[in-house]
Amino acid sequence: TLGTDWAIAWIRRSADVVAEHRVELITLDREIGDGDHGENLDRGFSAVVAKLDTLPEGSTPADVFKLVATTLISTVGGASGPLFGTAYLKAAGAVAGREDLDSASLVDLLTAARDGVVLRGKAAVGDKTMIDAWTPAVDSAARAAEGGQDEKSVLEAAAQAAETGARDTEPLVAHKGRASYLGERAVGHRDPGAQSSSLILRAAVEVAG
Ligand code: ADP
Ligand code: MG
Ligand code: MG
Repeated sequence: TLGTDWAIAWIRRSADVVAEHRVELITLDREIGDGDHGENLDRGFSAVVAKLDTLPEGSTPADVFKLVATTLISTVGGASGPLFGTAYLKAAGAVAGREDLDSASLVDLLTAARDGVVLRGKAAVGDKTMIDAWTPAVDSAARAAEGGQDEKSVLEAAAQAAETGARDTEPLVAHKGRASYLGERAVGHRDPGAQSSSLILRAAVEVAG
């Protein structure tokens, strides 16, 4: 099972990965948005890391995700702040009170996060948003957990599906977010939020024991 140490390591690794890929995410967003996605997430996750040390002893994974949610919502301008913020808030709710997360709990967490993004942004699969990474990730994680896979394998399944899902946004026309103003001109470009989501889900695997 994966506990609070994993949750904290996931968030720290996410912050590192977002910082490493800042320019890449800015470039993707410059092509079909306003060019701030890398900056938005880097600012948000840096603020989160600065607050992680304030977590009291005995904090649960849900406490970690709640801190991430409130910090992202208050520090990230742009669509992705409330979207990721709601994802972490709902993830926290899904695993509230649990100290150790097994495969089924991880599926609950990922499902709630995805549902939070949908609740907030109303995007469906194929709209060329982060949902095109999250929904295949959830589905793939659920299949892995039902097949009796361990925690790391469930996260690996999620990350792989998210990476494929992000790549598969390239030929799509966007129906939500700024890219939807571009019509056919968005075709041939990867959605920045789908890409950052796949990076964040990959980070979860990398720090899983
Ligand atoms: P902004 O578009 O306000 O500048 P960001 O650049 O930080 O915000 O985030 C853009 C990303 O947000 C997009 O690439 C897309 O993945 C995601 N996004 C935008 N609108 C929605 C929505 N309604 N539902 C899901 N994701 C969305
Ligand atoms: Mg943007
Ligand atoms: Mg913006």
